[in-house]
Amino acid sequence: MTVRVTTSEGSTIDLGNDVIARLGASQLDRVLLPGAPGYDEARTIWNAMIDRRPGLIIRCGSTADVVEGVRLAREHDLILAVRGGGHNIAGNAVNDGGLMLDLSPMKSIQVDQGKRTARVGPGATLAEFDREAQAFGLATPVGVNSTTGIAGLTLGGGFGWLSRRLGLTIDNLLSAEVVLASGEVVQTSATQNPDLFWGIRGGGGNFGIVTSFEFQLHQIGPEVLSGLIVHPLAAAKDVLRFYREFLPTTPEEFACWFVMRKAPPLPFLAPEWHGKEILALAVCYSGPIAEGEKIAAPLRKFGKPVADVIAPNPFTAWQAILDPLLTPGLRNYWKSHYFKEVSDGLIDVLIEYAGKIPDPNTEIAFAQLGGAINRVPADATAYAARDAQFTINVHGRWQDAAKDAECIGWARDLFRAAAPFASSGAYVNFLTQEEGDRVSAAYGRNYDRLVKLKNKYDPRNLFRVNQNIRPMAYA
Ligand SMILES: Cc1cc2nc3c(=O)[nH]c(=O)nc-3n(C[C@H](O)[C@H](O)[C@H](O)COP(=O)(O)OP(=O)(O)OC[C@H]3O[C@@H](n4cnc5c(N)ncnc54)[C@H](O)[C@@H]3O)c2cc1C
Repeated sequence: MTVRVTTSEGSTIDLGNDVIARLGASQLDRVLLPGAPGYDEARTIWNAMIDRRPGLIIRCGSTADVVEGVRLAREHDLILAVRGGGHNIAGNAVNDGGLMLDLSPMKSIQVDQGKRTARVGPGATLAEFDREAQAFGLATPVGVNSTTGIAGLTLGGGFGWLSRRLGLTIDNLLSAEVVLASGEVVQTSATQNPDLFWGIRGGGGNFGIVTSFEFQLHQIGPEVLSGLIVHPLAAAKDVLRFYREFLPTTPEEFACWFVMRKAPPLPFLAPEWHGKEILALAVCYSGPIAEGEKIAAPLRKFGKPVADVIAPNPFTAWQAILDPLLTPGLRNYWKSHYFKEVSDGLIDVLIEYAGKIPDPNTEIAFAQLGGAINRVPADATAYAARDAQFTINVHGRWQDAAKDAECIGWARDLFRAAAPFASSGAYVNFLTQEEGDRVSAAYGRNYDRLVKLKNKYDPRNLFRVNQNIRPMAYA
């Protein structure tokens, strides 16, 4: 038996039975060929627009499995994809015809309560990480959809409800174990291979495969004051003008994001609002509940909201609150910008496009950054956009492929209309597969240093199925 696999040049080669048998010697069920039980599950990712079929999938259970996979790819010059949580919008967890290393079985999470740190495997989801950390009353900033993978999220930067207070996920990364393109396993931190540590904090999977992350944790919860304040879209201009005046008066424990969309049939919304365009402010205050009530009061009193469901919620429940709206299996297309302010011009654009949202699943998501994120110098980590106060995710989302052109067109038009109000850079974790040309802009002045690092750690561009930083030989 042979396995046909695609090389980095696009040609195919046949790997003999001996090669496959060697791989599977200890864990045969972890080597999946097309048609095998588990193969489709392993190749299926969050965004249903991506439908790729690797020639060979190794479900890695340990660092040794990853080393073996990297050596195989290197030896035969195979195109290599790495899957963490499989949430990447561009579909970079999976390739067509090549080798895919699926790290999702590597879910080990160990919390050191005394040091307030956690060692986390690259297959863990945010929900799994939050759950373990909260068992000790601890947490670190991660994203807002709990089924996202910790690995991809961290390597691109990572922000969520706690980031204004505690920085990006990478600002809380203490060390990592990395399998390099050479197959060597190294440790990296501020003192061990510090150039690599700089690069993996925002540089994605360009420099190696992370097999373990060590995070700083913080005392959070167990409850946070959190919830939604929902306004009709007709009130959005006044509400967003108030929003931008109000935010600077709040402490960094307070974060307020917003979503513009057609209202889903949520139980706390009167039926007459279901399907109507709304602006929902999403609030999270991670300090003492009573203090949060005082801080949130002016926002709750403003205008005439059609719903206000702000209350103490378990931190882990709040971290998963958006999950029902972000389930896997739908078609998704994103465009994103950073902003330094919510200007009048931007408000007008958002309202105009919210008024013509093409599908009930589609939304405009607007996240607050700022605070601790801004205090890290732009050249301290590969992630460069340290001046951004907000980011938008124009989130086209729909079910029927017949709506592709309409929904993608709407997202692109909104992106273009908002561009004059945007600040520089781009969030690599939000870039689609067609946005490879935005990668250098995403890293700004850090890009040249990243290319040098790529030359050093991956000169043959083995790790290229990502938002790729090309080494000199391939530039
Ligand atoms: C619904 C939804 C909500 C989101 N919300 C947020 C949010 O609130 N905040 C935020 O910051 N981001 C958010 N994101 C974006 C998210 O950070 C990215 O999609 C991220 O790439 C997901 O990581 P993953 O491991 O799940 O993805 P994957 O698709 O598995 O991997 C993403 C990339 O990282 C590489 N990679 C994965 N694991 C490793 C590893 N161990 N070593 C080296 N390379 C690796 C992959 O090859 C791929 O290039 C959200 C995404 C979705 C779909």
